[in-house]
Amino acid sequence: MRTVPKSGMRTRAPIPGRGACPHSMACQMYDLFTSREILNVWKENYCQDAYGDCARYRRACTGSFVPLTLLPNGRQLNVDERWLRKATA
Ligand code: SF4
Repeated sequence: MRTVPKSGMRTRAPIPGRGACPHSMACQMYDLFTSREILNVWKENYCQDAYGDCARYRRACTGSFVPLTLLPNGRQLNVDERWLRKATA
């Protein structure tokens, strides 16, 4: 017998990589930005609903090293070398 929800609508299985990122509580990318506005752009485009598209997330899932300056779109954030040494010390 087929079960149909009372509302008559079909339930959907969650789409892998959609929804809130499971790494968001400890993601180092959040420490990169002093501007909340810029950080929020990344959060809205990746962390909150499309983490499966994030280069940081995908690298972490393969067990690869995730550089601090790797952005979700796969590009590297260009930062001052001295700042980077301090941030990773
Ligand atoms: S930057 Fe990527 S890995 Fe980090 S919380 Fe956002 S989606 Fe997840």
